[in-house]
Amino acid sequence: MGNYQICDFCGNLTEKNYIKMCADCEEMYNKIRSIVEVHPDTIVLDLSNQTGISVSRILSFVRNGYFTMKEGNVEVRK
Ligand SMILES: [Zn+2]
Repeated sequence: MGNYQICDFCGNLTEKNYIKMCADCEEMYNKIRSIVEVHPDTIVLDLSNQTGISVSRILSFVRNGYFTMKEGNVEVRK
């Protein structure tokens, strides 16, 4: 079982990798990241509309430290 981990975001059992999330969540993360890298002033609602990812899921990425949020704008963590 040493090669598996529980995904931080959806609770799925997933193969261990360099970040604590499964492939599905990593795909969401990359989707969000690709937008906020180009548009760091995107508010969370627009981000949700553009990606189809729920606001609560985006906020859980923020809570887990993958992004930072300032006055509703999501930014890539530096
Ligand atoms: Zn997941």
